[in-house]
Amino acid sequence: MAALLRAGISSADGQPDGATAGADRTAPAHILDFLPAKRRRLIVASQSKDLRLKMARMVFYSFADAQAGIVDVGRRIAAQGWAPATAGNYSARTADGFAVTASGRHKGRLTESDILRLDGDGAVIGDGRPSAETALHLALYRRFPDAGAVLHGHSPAAVALTRAYPARIEWRFAGHEMLKAFPGVTTHKTAITLPIVDNSQDMAVIEAAVMPALNPPGVAPAYLIRDHGLYAWGADLDEAERILEAVEWLIAAELAERGFREKAR
Ligand SMILES: [Zn+2]
Repeated sequence: MAALLRAGISSADGQPDGATAGADRTAPAHILDFLPAKRRRLIVASQSKDLRLKMARMVFYSFADAQAGIVDVGRRIAAQGWAPATAGNYSARTADGFAVTASGRHKGRLTESDILRLDGDGAVIGDGRPSAETALHLALYRRFPDAGAVLHGHSPAAVALTRAYPARIEWRFAGHEMLKAFPGVTTHKTAITLPIVDNSQDMAVIEAAVMPALNPPGVAPAYLIRDHGLYAWGADLDEAERILEAVEWLIAAELAERGFREKAR
């Protein structure tokens, strides 16, 4: 991805891992505009090294790169069978807002014209109807300043897990080597929690249910909506794709493990 911009906060204490060498590290003026005022004040006033590093990790795609990147990732996710029919929706943060998939498109056959341009408040610039779940994407960007891309699919395994365990409000993955795919994890001797919330056609209901569950440490940058699918996000499209793949793999591995245990009885 050639024209990635990473935001720079002049008081940041260090260069985050993977920062694009020589890239423009000056944040666009609107960088904080889409954040709630309280959070904006917190970030501006904060002396927190962690928060400054998160801000320094922010990625801004050019709209053209976001279009190309989303089309590419859409083909790969469709090829895995994780977004059949017109399921799923994808987005990336751009220099002037967001890029998001249009409503009702087959995600394996996306073209650049299926990726819509949104401003920092989520209003469409130009024509087209964005995905019905755009509000959930924007909620994640508001909540996590270092999220640069959000991917959402409807894989059979992700949906089956939530239906097989209807009382579960989270799933805990422990001891897997694959956990090292998550940012900051360096050992298999750990655990990551994946929140599960109930489905609704009202995005505000899902948002209200999931946001508190994303608080504690050890929670994946991902969550499941019961009967529906999986959301995953990362600093950029590559990282978001890695998280989505890792969670899908972990679900498949635990499903296979339970199958072997059944047969061994
Ligand atoms: Zn969906």
